[in-house]
Amino acid sequence: MEPNRNNDPNKTPEGGRPKLNLVTTLLITLVIVLLFSWVLNMVRSSQYTLTTWSDFVAARDAGQLAEVEIQADRLLYMTKEEAAKEPQDQKACFTGLPRGGNYETMATELAAQGVKVNEKIIEDNSIITMILSYVVMIGGLFLIMNMLTRRMGGDGMMGSFGKSKAKVYMEKQTGVTFKDVAGQDEAKESLQEIIDFLHNPQKYTAIGAKLPKGALLVGSPGTGKTLLAKAVAGEADVPFFSISGSDFVEMFVGMGASRVRDLFQQAAKVAPCIIFIDEIDAVGRSRDNRYGSNSEQEQTLNQLLSEIDGFESSKGIVCLAATNRPEILDKALLRPGRFDRRIIVDRPNLQGRLDTLKVHTRKIKLSEDVDLRKIAQATAGAVGADLANLVNEAALRAVRLGRQAVNQEDLLVSFETVIAGTEKKNTVLTDMEKRLVAYHEVGHALIAALEKHSQPVSKITIVPHTSGALGYTMQMPEEEKFLSTAQELRTELRTLVGGRAAEQVVFGVQTTGAANDIQRATALARNMITQYGMSDKFGLMTTASVQNQYLDGQAYMDCSQETAAGVDREVMKLLNEAYESAKATLTQKRSLLDEISEYLLVKETITGDELMAYVSADAKALEAPAEEAPANPEE
Ligand code: ADP
Ligand code: ZN
Repeated sequence: MEPNRNNDPNKTPEGGRPKLNLVTTLLITLVIVLLFSWVLNMVRSSQYTLTTWSDFVAARDAGQLAEVEIQADRLLYMTKEEAAKEPQDQKACFTGLPRGGNYETMATELAAQGVKVNEKIIEDNSIITMILSYVVMIGGLFLIMNMLTRRMGGDGMMGSFGKSKAKVYMEKQTGVTFKDVAGQDEAKESLQEIIDFLHNPQKYTAIGAKLPKGALLVGSPGTGKTLLAKAVAGEADVPFFSISGSDFVEMFVGMGASRVRDLFQQAAKVAPCIIFIDEIDAVGRSRDNRYGSNSEQEQTLNQLLSEIDGFESSKGIVCLAATNRPEILDKALLRPGRFDRRIIVDRPNLQGRLDTLKVHTRKIKLSEDVDLRKIAQATAGAVGADLANLVNEAALRAVRLGRQAVNQEDLLVSFETVIAGTEKKNTVLTDMEKRLVAYHEVGHALIAALEKHSQPVSKITIVPHTSGALGYTMQMPEEEKFLSTAQELRTELRTLVGGRAAEQVVFGVQTTGAANDIQRATALARNMITQYGMSDKFGLMTTASVQNQYLDGQAYMDCSQETAAGVDREVMKLLNEAYESAKATLTQKRSLLDEISEYLLVKETITGDELMAYVSADAKALEAPAEEAPANPEE
């Protein structure tokens, strides 16, 4: 589950930014300016009557001029006839000025004739001023438009070609320390050295030791990589710069590179400090074309590499990066002197989950009945972000129900919300559907309960969930397990197909409800054969390899087509065996299956203990002297 980054108070949500490029902006500005000046000219000209130069000469020679104004490119004049009118009716004329005339002498001559010559004569209203005023106008408009786009949440058009707009979050003090990070002891230990170095660089440089400039935090989303990086900054009490790799990926070639340069410049000013690059795979993916790359990304990566090489580690800049796909990173990034340390940030184990729950419930009022260990047990596979989310949901539920403290039920219910999807009360099932679901779930549960190597069932329910599951059987391991034996995996297979087996045995039908079970069973069977070396036919040969271990962990076939076909047949065989065995078990325990299913239909949700009570009662009945016949009267 993706960590809910919006809750992070240190980051601002990123608005979408409308991108107009420079050329369009300039064009738009130009068109606006031209239109504007054209309209202005029209308005101005309409005040005057346009005449020819010879009209003017004729008027002058006839001595009809009252007033003249000589400008750089034109001449305004008013005849005596017009000047006699009321001021608002007066209309001046204008005419172009032929080039090369000596207008200063003309002005003195006119003045001598008694014509009023306006002061502004030959004021330098020249082309240069015109161009200048245009430039000022264009510049002004451009700035305004730029500001407007900035307002709209973008970076402004300037930003697209300017430099510093990288979304760098600088925190003087992160306020996070290792105490806030639960578990992850190995990661903390590896990072301890970096903290020590930031505290006291002289100690290292005195000996001549070079410290790693960077470390790569590798792990699934939500396992706390960002949190750890922040904690390093917090422990060392240095500023924390964070940026996401995807922020470097830009539309214009060269932009990402300039951001990288910028980031390191900013950091150098406040060193010692930590630079954290989240999702480094966005920039750092391998430059071979297997995953598709482009010149912009390549330039950015090159810049990043040269910046990392460039800074003197004695300055005290440490670069931490996070990724969940280390295998696609460019080899150059991982060379000595760059991100040569790899720190694995694993999904937490039982103790880790318990600690994480404790960290997140520190500030939450818990009621007496809360047993965090139980919750930790139930959440195998969950990452820190899930647990943080779970605790928060529980607190919200407590508030919703008007309670003062969070109780165990809140935690359990929110566990179901966060991990299993919310209970959905309004899906109406027909009676027949309900029966099918009940038998299906009890099918799973009964197989698990009867088998030796299975995980105990903790809950069976036929209350539909929004996730789409019409019911589910929850199994909870008693302790954290890291290894599974082939026996246990076979049991798991039988448990998985137990649902479908029950449908078949009891109703003789097959429903779509088993789709997910079948998918999981198939995947498990395939893994057993291709990766765990658990088939007789292929023995220890691996026929599939895992590509991105920290994401979906999907494996890709890595063998000849012939072998692949053979693998398919083996998978089918394994599944069939499991299915037949499950059907046999359920047929034999038919009465027990009926009993529990009817009970579940009434109660909708039963606990593992209730289930086990039925199972052990049945076992006792079997042990009892022979007057009680074996419990399968129907077959
Ligand atoms: P990542 O960067 O690995 O995707 P984050 O560091 O952003 O994960 O983790 C998201 C949130 O999950 C954190 O803010 C924190 O609340 C919680 N969290 C994750 N791991 C831990 C942990 N080990 N201890 C405490 N809280 C954790
Ligand atoms: Zn099922």
